[in-house]
Amino acid sequence: MRAIRRFSVRPVLPEPLTGLGTLVNNLRWSWHPETQDVFEAVDPQLWRSTGGDPVKLLGEVPAARLDELAHDDVFLRRLELAVTDLNAYVSGDRWFQTDAGSPVSSVAYFSPEFGITYVLPQYSGGLGILAGDHLKAASDLGVPLIGVGLLYRHGYFAQSLNAEGWQQERYPLVDPDGLPISLLRDGDAPATVTLTLPGNRQLHAQIWVAQVGRVPLLMLDSDMEENDPAEREVTDRLYGGSTEHRLLQELLLGVGGVRAVRTFCRITGHSAPEVFHTNEGHAGFLGIERIRELATDQSLDFDTALEVARGGTVFTTHTPVPAGIDRFPVELIQQHFSPDAYGEGVPIDRILELGAEDFEGGDPGVFNMAIMGLRLAQRANGVSKLHGVVSRGMFAGLWPSFDPVDVPITSITNGVHAPTWVAREIHGLTYAATDTAESDGVFDGLDKTSDAQIWETKRTLRQRFIDDTRARVRQSWINRGASDAELGWVDSILDPDVLTMGFARRVPSYKRLTLMLRDPARLKALLLHPQRPVQIVIAGKAHPHDEGGKKLIQEMVRFADDPEVRHRIVFVPDYDIALAQPMYPGCDVWLNNPLRPYEACGTSGMKAALNGALNLSIRDGWWDEWYDDEFGWAIPSAEGIEDTDRRDDLEAHALYDLIEKQVAPRFYDGEVPGRWIEMLRHTIKELGPKVLATRMVRDYVEQLYVPAAHSSRSLNSTYDGARELAAWKKKVRTAWPQIRVDHVELQGLGDVPQLGTTVGIRAFAALGDLEPSDICVEVLHGRVDTNDEITDPVRATLAMAETYEGNRHRYEGELKLDRTGPFGYTVRVVPNHAGLASPAELGLAAGPSDPDDDPSAPDLPAGSEF
Ligand SMILES: *Cc1c(COP(=O)(O)O)cnc(C)c1O
Repeated sequence: MRAIRRFSVRPVLPEPLTGLGTLVNNLRWSWHPETQDVFEAVDPQLWRSTGGDPVKLLGEVPAARLDELAHDDVFLRRLELAVTDLNAYVSGDRWFQTDAGSPVSSVAYFSPEFGITYVLPQYSGGLGILAGDHLKAASDLGVPLIGVGLLYRHGYFAQSLNAEGWQQERYPLVDPDGLPISLLRDGDAPATVTLTLPGNRQLHAQIWVAQVGRVPLLMLDSDMEENDPAEREVTDRLYGGSTEHRLLQELLLGVGGVRAVRTFCRITGHSAPEVFHTNEGHAGFLGIERIRELATDQSLDFDTALEVARGGTVFTTHTPVPAGIDRFPVELIQQHFSPDAYGEGVPIDRILELGAEDFEGGDPGVFNMAIMGLRLAQRANGVSKLHGVVSRGMFAGLWPSFDPVDVPITSITNGVHAPTWVAREIHGLTYAATDTAESDGVFDGLDKTSDAQIWETKRTLRQRFIDDTRARVRQSWINRGASDAELGWVDSILDPDVLTMGFARRVPSYKRLTLMLRDPARLKALLLHPQRPVQIVIAGKAHPHDEGGKKLIQEMVRFADDPEVRHRIVFVPDYDIALAQPMYPGCDVWLNNPLRPYEACGTSGMKAALNGALNLSIRDGWWDEWYDDEFGWAIPSAEGIEDTDRRDDLEAHALYDLIEKQVAPRFYDGEVPGRWIEMLRHTIKELGPKVLATRMVRDYVEQLYVPAAHSSRSLNSTYDGARELAAWKKKVRTAWPQIRVDHVELQGLGDVPQLGTTVGIRAFAALGDLEPSDICVEVLHGRVDTNDEITDPVRATLAMAETYEGNRHRYEGELKLDRTGPFGYTVRVVPNHAGLASPAELGLAAGPSDPDDDPSAPDLPAGSEF
């Protein structure tokens, strides 16, 4: 019989054990093995059978056992120590308070997904894992972050296979009562936020709080009885449903998220955020909601409110492909932000302008969330150096007067949270003292460890991973219709002494899951090599609507089903945090073969590296930036070859060659392979500190949060500054068509320009209705290519020397000819204001007029060679 309603009854802990509740309710346990040990001691057998889920454990442990523990002095002392340790972690000063001097009141960090622990399945892949690691590292560093997301009642999906190897999706219910989270209450009632939708419908959401160390994560949940059935389903699952469903989720996340933050701060006394950070474009509506707040509560006009909101907003883009960007039909935005639905505060045409693709190649019918993100955030970044370059090119249309190098999108390379991802055994060998891997030099413990010890540890980790994989493969075959009796062979798949390679990630086509199958015979020979075999473990989910991805999985599964190779290559279904955690340490080599440059950053290789695996990857994302032949191998990319089949062939063959001729021989070089272990040491010691999420969060604080907080503070102080900035921008935009550089000359160049010569440069600029203080005259110089493009321009400012009639001015400076060969320069006028984060912010620049149009101009066009 089906129940009409379900709820979970939480256990009442005996008084001496209330500390267990404290430990469970702070997710720090998920990256703190000592706390997990305390849970395990409650009931080791239950701990294992619940898959390490402390809420389930406490729900199922017999009352008699709790009574016993309540009188067990040894256990009680352990418990008390763990609680004391947690309290110290949560309340003490950390990097942000001591070294950084608490420069920001707080930061609200919005993301559509958060991957924190396997018991809270609210993520699909890299974006969510990164968001989870961001919160944890912020907590370790003491950065006052508030996370904001949604609580999906079915998470993403659980993956299994059918007999044919075709991906099956299941959507297990996530019951909040069974999770280590709590409902935010406003007095006696749950705190809620409400959005008005077209047709006078109401969308209500309650707010769950997960405590991630020091960082609260607010998760909005529309599954409330107050909602109509359709609205209840807004937070049903991650990345499912129709375009409108997706829009409602993004409205709830962005608009509802800001309201939830306000409510949370009011109830708890948490300080209000000075900075709002949107992790990818999905949460971008937060900027519109903040404009509405300012327009309604402070009576600011739209342009002033926009300046205030922008100053404190940071936008991180994660995709290098236009197809990865969220776009909505304009009509849908019109409906949802109409005055009837959203209120009178923000004119709908101004909202539409923000997401308009009003540049070359744009589609007038769509509203683009990334474009809006860039227009609503004064500071933006990509997630690796290469992705920064790609993003500046991809969005260059928004700054039409500038070269891509000048586009104001910077980059901060992603990182991973070591305490979450590093195996305890590796941690024990490498980290000298602290528990958080946040200070320099913590990797030096490895120096005191012998090669033999390292090798023995890796074997232990390989074995553990193999045990876990065998259990999963057995379960998978049972799901595929096999009976236990025919699965004896599963107990002998994989070998703890064989070179183990891992490949796990989502399955979009650019990640090329099946590249290794390009030449099946060649792969088979590598797997079955008589002296130097390799074994490969593969995992990954395809998006439920991605038939192509499911085909790739099926192809992989079919290859791995072959009795000849099934002991050396396996596909393990349901890639998630629980599968990933033993996988990275169990691998010797981490394989990644994306189509360069589509991997924005990639983080799985970082997690593998911290666990002493070597990377074997295409130089894309982070690996392009930090590749070193002591850290692994670069698979040569045939980027530039248009024929994708041929490109795949070339790259696959390079991969086979590397494995056969370099990777395997080095691994099998003696009982304890010295050269391999040397690389492993290098990887952990040299690469390790770079790939940490604490490094990443520190970069965010220093390069983006602090400057954004300064902008936000000064714009918020009286709003006069914001009004002045908005008015100034308007003035500059209106006056800009009159601005020009109308004469440039060099002095002291000589007949044959020589290295080391310093030449004088003079430029005459006409400023129309602007004041000299509104602009800045720059000279850009450097090497030029065959098209007279300055390839790596050096920028210098010219000083105003004299003023003439008609608001014309002479600017002067010097130029040092510091390199031989083709050299060029140009001069331009750009807007100048203390409130700008970049001279390119307005997308306005004026260069020398075309010499053909102006007979008085000297024969020195932009980028001329001399
Ligand atoms: C790290 C991780 C990812 C992301 O890996 P990429 O290399 O960035 O694609 C996805 N899923 C899980 C479970 C992970 O742990």
